[in-house]
Amino acid sequence: MFTRRSFVRSAAASLAMLAHTDGNANPTVSRRVRRSVEHGRPLYEFQYGQISLQSDLHQTQLKQTHSVLMNLSEDSLLRPYRLRVGLPAPGCDLGGWYSSDAFGAETFGQWISALSRYYAISRDEGTRAKVDRIIRMFAQTVEPTGKLFGDPTVTKGPAYMYDKLACGLMDAHQFTLQPTALKVLADVTGAVMPQLPDRVPTDDLYGAHETYTIPENQFIAWQRGGDSRHLDMAARYMHHAFFDPLSRGENVLARRHAYSHVNALCSAAKAFLVLGDDKYLRAAKYGFAFVEEQSFATGGWGPNETFLPNPGSPQLGTAPIHTLGDSLSVTHSHFETCCGAYAHFKLTRYLLRTTKDPSYGDSMERVMYNTVLGASPLLQDGRSFYNADYHFSDGRKSYFDGYFGRFPFAWPCCSGTLPQMAADYHVSTYFHDVDGVYVNLYVPSTLAWQQQGVPISLAQSGDYPIEDTVSITVAPARPCVFSVRLRIPSWTTRPSISINGKRVATPAAGTFATLTREWRQGDRIELELPRRLQLKAIDSGQPNIVAILYGPLVLFSIDAHAGQLTRPQLLAARRPDSQGSEWHVNVAGGRLRLVPFWAIKYERYSTYLRVA
Ligand SMILES: [Zn+2]
Repeated sequence: MFTRRSFVRSAAASLAMLAHTDGNANPTVSRRVRRSVEHGRPLYEFQYGQISLQSDLHQTQLKQTHSVLMNLSEDSLLRPYRLRVGLPAPGCDLGGWYSSDAFGAETFGQWISALSRYYAISRDEGTRAKVDRIIRMFAQTVEPTGKLFGDPTVTKGPAYMYDKLACGLMDAHQFTLQPTALKVLADVTGAVMPQLPDRVPTDDLYGAHETYTIPENQFIAWQRGGDSRHLDMAARYMHHAFFDPLSRGENVLARRHAYSHVNALCSAAKAFLVLGDDKYLRAAKYGFAFVEEQSFATGGWGPNETFLPNPGSPQLGTAPIHTLGDSLSVTHSHFETCCGAYAHFKLTRYLLRTTKDPSYGDSMERVMYNTVLGASPLLQDGRSFYNADYHFSDGRKSYFDGYFGRFPFAWPCCSGTLPQMAADYHVSTYFHDVDGVYVNLYVPSTLAWQQQGVPISLAQSGDYPIEDTVSITVAPARPCVFSVRLRIPSWTTRPSISINGKRVATPAAGTFATLTREWRQGDRIELELPRRLQLKAIDSGQPNIVAILYGPLVLFSIDAHAGQLTRPQLLAARRPDSQGSEWHVNVAGGRLRLVPFWAIKYERYSTYLRVA
């Protein structure tokens, strides 16, 4: 049973372990743990505002989610919190997961985060002002006993809500310079501490409370100037029962809630950057490798929001999903798209930065094009895309139905992560080190930065991923020596790079190609990433159930076909319009149309096909 005394005792133990760097109590530890130092010489992220994306798909998602959040009534946003502390609560209930009396209105913190990141990208004054107003009003609902967290028998519990609030308030502090966000977070932190367990409960496999996702945002809060309680909480909620075996290469994913445990891996990756302990990096790397082993061709994972049991383990209970292949005919819930992709992007960003391994960029790209970028738009009434559906005979895009009405459907968790995701494409596209820039995602975009004091802009254009060619124009204010590194995906065959029309490199697939030279205004890079159609089996037990891949894209069939298909038939798919995004497979009596995920609206589709 948790008591205030046990909290104080565990806090003291954690402090003894980590020490307060603020007070420099322990010079050895404080040398190891400093706010501004990241271990492992990672690549750096750019600021949100240094990157602008010109891709219609990305921009539409950013503007559309932003417009929904901007149109939300502020009284409605505050209503659940005001009611909990007995303040006048005018306005309507938003309903669904944001009802006053259901769940916890947890998306509040995520929406503040998304609006703050949007402001960092756009400098839109209306957005900054809205964040400022909402936080000032929210501050009135924060009192020392933490009534704002509501009744824990009704809500998902204070840990989940607090984690989202910490993220939002720190983003408001960092990106909009909201003057009271840091103080509000300090008060919220004081209010939540007595309500939290003193460590991660070991039986929380299915994410009932998700205390194990807390450390990532606590490390960030501390790095951005929050007080030392955040470092203490980060240490206290590290999920040792999960990370220790993972760090030894033991797969302990089985039957855990999928999204929240990938989120926990983000805490491990962040812990390595802050604390420098290799164990956490190994846990994140092995953990992600195990996730990839049980991923669909789209890059999505976690059918029915659960990781698969380990191969060969006995079937437990009545759970019918033992392999990815099983899942195709028994559920429509194959990947919790917005939350899953958001966590996937965070984790692969950490791992790419730390290892400089381009396969993490390949993985990010796969998830982007085949899942979240094709999510149906968030609607003003709270309808939200949730599950990607890879059902064998009857896949379709639909809005979350609360798992057949068992939960409210409006404003689910994914309505919080989609707006954050839409902002985070920006910081996932480019990275840098002291030598220059890494181009990770090939998206029409512009990057502005300084290299040795020289202002430089870099612009990408082209119709990738439909076409094979990416064009990049480099424009330093004056001639300047630096490196441009280009991710060469593992799926490409015979890639090549030209500068100003002259071929300069034929890099290997699965590397970063390095171009170091004195760059001049208008230098133009042409990157060719040729590819062939490939078939990928759902799992090793069912090699004749395949997805059709074209580089990073899965091609989804939008025509039903009753007859027998063959591998050569599928591999002969061709585009009738060589610039278009529709492929045709000739079959007896007609054709099968194949399209990328983003091109599907209301059509029934098949992600996997059975071949002879
Ligand atoms: Zn979700």
